[in-house]
Amino acid sequence: MRLWRYFFRAIRLRCPQCGKGRIFRTPFSMFSHCVYCELKYAREEGYFLGSIYFNYGLTALIVTIGYPLLVFVFELPGQIVLWSTMVFCVVFPLWFFRYARSLWIAFDQLCDPEEAQDVRPQERH
Ligand SMILES: [Zn+2]
Repeated sequence: MRLWRYFFRAIRLRCPQCGKGRIFRTPFSMFSHCVYCELKYAREEGYFLGSIYFNYGLTALIVTIGYPLLVFVFELPGQIVLWSTMVFCVVFPLWFFRYARSLWIAFDQLCDPEEAQDVRPQERH
């Protein structure tokens, strides 16, 4: 099923089209195209604005569920949970940044597929 194939390629930070090309060159810098199938990762200006929905959405969901759970169910001290949550809200989105972009590319490719142009084995710089 294409949904799961794209999802698993996204969490491995690979091209959703071919599954071979890496999306990120360094932790915070991306390739513009897949080096194997030449799928263009950023289709237009502001394209990755959508990835913020994934990043913010997951961060907010975890905090919305986690904070009351830790305070009211596990009865941990409120101040400790509050400060831990604040640190989480800064660190988690930075860590999840690459996955949010990768998931966004896969989601977009799933909803509006762009065909691969050709297959090239060597990397493009
Ligand atoms: Zn590719």
